[in-house]
Amino acid sequence: MLPLSDTIVAIATPPGEGAIGIIRLSGANAITIAAKIFSKKGLEQQPSHTLHFGKIVSNHTVIDEVVISLFKNPKSYTGEDVVEISCHGSNYILQQVVSVCLQHGARMAQAGEFTLRAFLNGKLDLTQAEAVADLIASQSNTAHRAAMHTLRGGFSEDLKDMREQLITFSALMELELDFSEEDVEFADRTRFYQLIGALTTVTQNLVNSFSLGNVIKNGVSVAIVGKPNAGKSTLLNTLLNEERAIVSDIAGTTRDTIEETLNINGIIFRLIDTAGIREHSKDLIELQGIERSREAMKKADIAVYLFDASVDQLDELKDQQRYFEENNIKYLLAGNKVDARGLEKAHDTYRGIDKQIIFISAKNKENINELKTALYDLVATGDLQQEGTIITNVRHYGALQEVLKSLHDIKSGLDNSVPGDLIALDIRHCLHYLGEITGEITTEDKLDYIFSKFCIGK
Ligand code: GDP
Repeated sequence: MLPLSDTIVAIATPPGEGAIGIIRLSGANAITIAAKIFSKKGLEQQPSHTLHFGKIVSNHTVIDEVVISLFKNPKSYTGEDVVEISCHGSNYILQQVVSVCLQHGARMAQAGEFTLRAFLNGKLDLTQAEAVADLIASQSNTAHRAAMHTLRGGFSEDLKDMREQLITFSALMELELDFSEEDVEFADRTRFYQLIGALTTVTQNLVNSFSLGNVIKNGVSVAIVGKPNAGKSTLLNTLLNEERAIVSDIAGTTRDTIEETLNINGIIFRLIDTAGIREHSKDLIELQGIERSREAMKKADIAVYLFDASVDQLDELKDQQRYFEENNIKYLLAGNKVDARGLEKAHDTYRGIDKQIIFISAKNKENINELKTALYDLVATGDLQQEGTIITNVRHYGALQEVLKSLHDIKSGLDNSVPGDLIALDIRHCLHYLGEITGEITTEDKLDYIFSKFCIGK
């Protein structure tokens, strides 16, 4: 970790041209440095939370006309003095302003260093700091809501409650140990037992929410597969409502894999369109397509197998099902082109298939919503609109599993009347992992690791 006494600087807006671009300075000398490069005098004497219009000047050359926002410690994002310089959004200007700040004593911020400082200055706990990164990365209303809930301290509150209740009991247990000669029980075992039961339920629910949380945060990858001419490109276009892939009558023309995203009720599905998965192809490019298609299916969370339901492909469909099942691939069956033959006939032909088939017409946009609902139902169990905490962070998930394990140990200790000092040890384990999640207990290495995954300027 680099010294916290340094004043740090970074571009806070994304690369590329924008109407405005923002440079952020944080640290004891943030305002002094800004004052040295700003055309208007007396910036240091200005009150916190004020805006100042002027010029950034270096060696008598005006770099840009800017607006400076002033945040004096402790009322700032990092808890230190913070200056934000809003420039015109040219990369050249932003680089110039940063370099002038560096000349006047600032140093380049490392990835996540602003948020790290906010954490170290007690502005955020670790779960909230991590939620900042999730919030910035959120691409759907559900990901946004889960990050916002954590950022506002929802998850921290759950953990704080658990920790406080456990600490009370742990203190009584430790007290008993001090009086071990006298065989007294300060900690009411029945109440303790109930508490452990309640904490186990809360923790288990949090652990369970991760499968949904993971889907919310990372989305779901979907491979649309099927023989050439099944209508995969047409379906992709229909789903995305735009002419992205080339639709063609010649079998096997969609050779490049294209990735697009689709938001179904707040879950992001990443669609991968692939070449057909025809077994016996003489065409080399087509064979590569098949290989890629197989690879995509293995990498994808879900495969949608699209087939032309206007013709009889019952045996092939059964083979295909066997392939999915043998390879543990989650899949959906979609019968396309029902407009050409009629829904009833399609149902009749495929009655022998023991899995639900969604019959659609990709071309005429029929039953597309049913297909979307089926995709959604395959991954989203549980209520996405729920207000409670949904775990989206794999680090929290790991620590919560350890919490759960120590709760089980405590319970079995109580069940088997093991000595108080051993139970006290399990309680300490449990408290340790709870503390690790919020960052009350942490190491410098761990912090470096967590914050290194942020972008510069965050
Ligand atoms: P791909 O090779 O699987 O990507 O198939 P395409 O999307 O290129 O479609 C192959 C042919 O089937 C094209 O002529 C499409 O217009 C046609 N097609 C696709 N969907 C439907 C549909 O729902 N009904 C009918 N009748 N034809 C369709």
